[in-house]
Order: sequence, then C-alpha cells, then structure tokens
Amino acid sequence: MLDKYIAKRSKEPGKKKGDKTARHTIHNEVISAIKPALKVAMKWGYIDKIPECQRLRLPDKIGRIVTPEHFELIYSKCDVATDPADQTCDAEAWWQALLVFAVTTGWRISEILAFTWDEVDLESGMVVTLAETNKPDRDDVDYLPQPTIEHLKAIRGRDRRVFPWNHNDTHLRNVFHRIQRAAGIHLPCRSKTHQHSPRCHVYGFHALRRMCGTENAERLPAKALQKKMRHKSFETTQHYIGLAERMKRHTQNTYVPNFLKKKSDNGDGKAGPNGDSKGETKDDPDASADGQNPPTSSS
Ligand SMILES: [Zn+2]
Repeated sequence: MLDKYIAKRSKEPGKKKGDKTARHTIHNEVISAIKPALKVAMKWGYIDKIPECQRLRLPDKIGRIVTPEHFELIYSKCDVATDPADQTCDAEAWWQALLVFAVTTGWRISEILAFTWDEVDLESGMVVTLAETNKPDRDDVDYLPQPTIEHLKAIRGRDRRVFPWNHNDTHLRNVFHRIQRAAGIHLPCRSKTHQHSPRCHVYGFHALRRMCGTENAERLPAKALQKKMRHKSFETTQHYIGLAERMKRHTQNTYVPNFLKKKSDNGDGKAGPNGDSKGETKDDPDASADGQNPPTSSS
C-alpha cells in the first residue's frame, strides 16, 4: 500500500513548475501517516517499540552556497556592471561593496538595501540596526570587519542609504547575474524535469547569506552566529552549523589523489586539473622524496 502511495505521489507536481514532488516530502508524509498507527500497535502490545523513523531534512533544502573561489571570481568581475550609474561612486565599487557587505554581515538583501549611513559608525565599524528594519524585532549591534569598512568608505555618497538602488528588484538580480556570467559561473541545475532558465545557473543573493552562515559556523559561537544572521529560531542556526560540519567532514573524507595533496601542502593553491605534474617533481624534490621514503619518526 505504501509503495503504491509513494509511486503515485512521486509523479505529482512539486512546488516549482515542472518539478515532481521531492523525495523527502513524500518520506515525511509517509512517516506522519504511519507513526500514529505504530503507536497504537505498541499500546496494544503488537510491537515492543516504535521503530526509529527519522524525518528527512535534505541538505538541498538550504539552497545554494557561494564558494570562496566563486566569490573571488564574482568580485573580480564587478566591472561589467553599469548600474547604479546615478551615484557618485562607480558601479564596480558599489557592487564590490555590496558583495563584501553581504558576505561579512549575512544580512538579507532587503535589509542591505534598507541600510542607512546613520546606522553605521565608519570609525569603529559598529552597526546599530533599529528594531523596525530587522526581522526579529529588536535592536542589534554588530561590528563590521576592516575590509568591509574600507569598501563602504569607497562608496560613501550623498544618499542616506548606503546602497542606493533606484531601479526595481528584477534589475538588481539581473545585474548580479550578468556579473556572475562574466565571471564564468555556470552552476549545474539539479532539476531534471523543468525547463531551465538562465537563472538556474547562477547564485541568488541568498546564497551569499548562506555562505556567511556556513563559513562562520566554525568561527563563531552558535549564539553569536544566530545574532549575526538574525535567525529567529536557534534551530535554523544549528542547521547551518550542522551543514557546515557535514560539509567539512565530507571534504576531509573525499578521496584526493596523493600527488594533488602534496601540491596543496606545498602552498601551491592552484592544484587544479591544469596543474603540471611534470614540473612538480622537478621543481620540488622534497615532495617526491617524501612520497618515496617511509616516515622516519612518528609524531
Ligand atoms: Zn533548472
């Protein structure tokens, strides 16, 4: 009976146009349906205990996260932006400041656009946000890192908003996407069913917020991160922390050919598919010697 239900349900449309119902949604529906029955079965003595049935919380629920490498690429291509053209600073500086601000504060794009100069002290980097502008309805204080302050100083204009944008949201997104395409960002789209659009292959603004969350998950105490990200519930923050931990664990466990590991150990950050392995042994005799000789001392 359950198999039939799952088979039928998985053919029904999901949230997005052209998508089918997600697997974890069905899984959770099934659990919700059978758990009461199992409870009764236990009460009546048919079973000793309710079998463990975890609700699925898929990592893709959290959405895309900008990688540090992609962030750098995007940052370097802000010169293709022509808007905003009505400010004293140029569009490139505006966008670079926006990106750096977004990733160091983790604020939502709507909060960033609403941010005003009287909420920041450029000397100390202290940011005071008033209750009506942030979501959890309370005043907050945060400190901007030095690079963020420098980027803000570079775009200081007459407008009371830090990031004045006199166009609509769609145009803002379009410019962001154009910068990414110029940076060579082309993300795979996980959906195999819908009609792809250009938006499928670039990051949205929220991916910067997620980057802030996951990159800071290990650097900040959980409560500080929650405050920074302005998560209403601590559970959301913990989800980020859990995700970051899982990602790190996976990265550590992922198989990497030994010669590539050596390469990055030696400070050669560009250990990519284009890396020249012939040059490696010649340029760096220590690396190959390490590989051939068993370690003489254990530490
Ligand atoms: Zn797509």
